[in-house]
Amino acid sequence: MNYYSLNHKSPISTFKNAVVNGIAPDRGLYFPESITPLSKDFIENIGNYSNHEIAFEVIKQFVGNEIPTDKLQEIIAETVSFDFPVVPVDDNIGSLELFHGPTMAFKDVGAKFMAKCLEYFNQGNKEEVTVLVATSGDTGGAVANGFLGAKGVNVVILYPSGKVSDIQEKQLTTLGQNITALEVDGVFDDCQEMVKTAFLDKEITRTLTSANSINVARWLPQMFYFFFAYKELQKKNKDLVVSVPSGNFGNICAGIMAQKLGLPIKHFVASTNVNDTVPNYLKDGVYNPKPSKATISNAMDVGNPSNFIRIQELFNNDLKALKSAFSSYSFSDDATRKTMKDIYANSGYVSDPHGAVGYLGLQKHGLQDNEYGIFLETAHPVKFLDVVEETLPVTVEIPAQIQKVMNNTKVAIKASSYEDLKAFLLK
Ligand SMILES: *Cc1c(COP(=O)(O)O)cnc(C)c1O
Repeated sequence: MNYYSLNHKSPISTFKNAVVNGIAPDRGLYFPESITPLSKDFIENIGNYSNHEIAFEVIKQFVGNEIPTDKLQEIIAETVSFDFPVVPVDDNIGSLELFHGPTMAFKDVGAKFMAKCLEYFNQGNKEEVTVLVATSGDTGGAVANGFLGAKGVNVVILYPSGKVSDIQEKQLTTLGQNITALEVDGVFDDCQEMVKTAFLDKEITRTLTSANSINVARWLPQMFYFFFAYKELQKKNKDLVVSVPSGNFGNICAGIMAQKLGLPIKHFVASTNVNDTVPNYLKDGVYNPKPSKATISNAMDVGNPSNFIRIQELFNNDLKALKSAFSSYSFSDDATRKTMKDIYANSGYVSDPHGAVGYLGLQKHGLQDNEYGIFLETAHPVKFLDVVEETLPVTVEIPAQIQKVMNNTKVAIKASSYEDLKAFLLK
């Protein structure tokens, strides 16, 4: 499959080149040249297929012949190695739990898939690839875990000091080996800006790539679990409304891609915290990115969501068409906490702040009789332990994979400006 840059000033790229370089030379995001819907027969009979078979069907056109079938199947088996249950919360609402992977957030899927693709493409090369990634919370841990020990690949993670949870910090600062953490004196957008600047800096001669959701190998496998959820809910015979707690808008963009492939999803809701650039755009048609604000759903503290441009492309840059299939609402921390309490009181379900924002989006959108709402529970509540335990009368049990990292020692290099990152990369 070939990819073009959304800035339209770079040559067409192979999948391999898009994965290895992350972003096009004109700084545009890569987008697939064609999107071919899957057969109706496959969708109707999805219940007859295993998750591995579904993932293979979904991703194969986007990889093309650049990875041999048996290798791609092996990569999928390593990526889709845990469950994605839809847990009923209300009569007509379920939580799609994406947190049963190694770092307990949905990003495990994209991170592992990308790590394995990059390792495959870089095998036999003498030069190592450096993966540079900015994280608002969960990306760092998922990338650190997904790439740990990958041959020929070094990983540098930038995170905003004091703005990620303790567990998140441990997950990205304690693994060692080919993983280095840079603790940045600033917010997520500063980290992201430093990463973007490094990509343009001609004095940095090592091969850099990004593991943010701008990378097609992180973005596209996120389609898998929308199909898995449909497989589980098909028998309900209801129209699906899906609410995705959104920050950089990569996850929801993958959901819309899944819909393009023929997955019957009636409507998407992009639920955000007070970082409301997209909800405002839908309201007044003005796209006005702002510095990010810190919230209790910190993995969504993004003021200028990178993937929104891909969503616009999926709707041919037609705001009216976008608005008919897609809504976006913003919610405060107070509303989020109140909803965590309400969900718990009504059903006993413990949601993390991101999942609660997703639930709020369904509530605000409203569900008709023949609709079933799904919100994506994007991280395990333990990853936001302080907020969850302050808000709900519960003690969250710490799962074994988290306990393990909590006992390890943080190692991070302080960085206060781009110059610090540059000095590190030139070493
Ligand atoms: C990354 C993340 C999000 C936001 O996902 P995007 O693809 O950036 O929109 C939401 N919730 C959690 C827990 C996350 O880690």
